[in-house]
Amino acid sequence: MSLSQEKLIENIKKIQDRAGEAQVVAVTKYVDIEPMKQLYEQGIRLFAENRAQQLLEKQELLGDLNEDIEWHFIGRLQRRPVKDIINRIDYLHSLDRMSLVKEVDKRADHTIKCFLQVNVSEEEQKAGFAVEELEEVVREIADYPKIKIVGLMTMAPYEAEEDELNHIFSTLKEEQEKIKALKLAHAPCEELSMGMSRDYHLAVTHGATYVRVGSAFFEE
Ligand SMILES: *Cc1c(COP(=O)(O)O)cnc(C)c1O
Repeated sequence: MSLSQEKLIENIKKIQDRAGEAQVVAVTKYVDIEPMKQLYEQGIRLFAENRAQQLLEKQELLGDLNEDIEWHFIGRLQRRPVKDIINRIDYLHSLDRMSLVKEVDKRADHTIKCFLQVNVSEEEQKAGFAVEELEEVVREIADYPKIKIVGLMTMAPYEAEEDELNHIFSTLKEEQEKIKALKLAHAPCEELSMGMSRDYHLAVTHGATYVRVGSAFFEE
């Protein structure tokens, strides 16, 4: 996929305008290294991948540029590759089950900034903790010193309409405030990772602090 520089600059500007105060994480899972370099040249420094192997390959290919890139991991993470990537990322957005909490804690050599992934829409096939169990989970994670809960993350169903999106994003915001109010040292929970290309404009109106945008960067 190759996009004219002009079009890319236009897309970046539009995304940054619509994201407002939220930090824009560029999701590069669909593209090779060249478009990533183009984004880098235009000042993008927050990158996200959803597969461990691709993350490692791209880090390798970007070489020295990695020094000021902030890496976000957003995909479902199996137990086995945790040891390969966990000390090479800045944020894990997809901490979605207790077995992963344990593995991250075991393999990390420093505190890892994590978002708890929440399955607000209660889709069966979707990963994440249920809203009802969040407080208990957060308290349990106090026993795993390498995990810092910086915020909550969710993904809306692909086909969701505006009412449902508003419901999902406002629910995540409420839950974030509840956890923040617990004032637990390991769970400041000040961030909200929500919103993708098709819905980040709504997510920001509900207080998203990170939006994860992929395809909108590369639209013709
Ligand atoms: C792919 C992906 C995104 C970005 O999706 P777009 O619709 O291309 O913006 C965001 N979050 C997660 C978890 C993803 O897997």
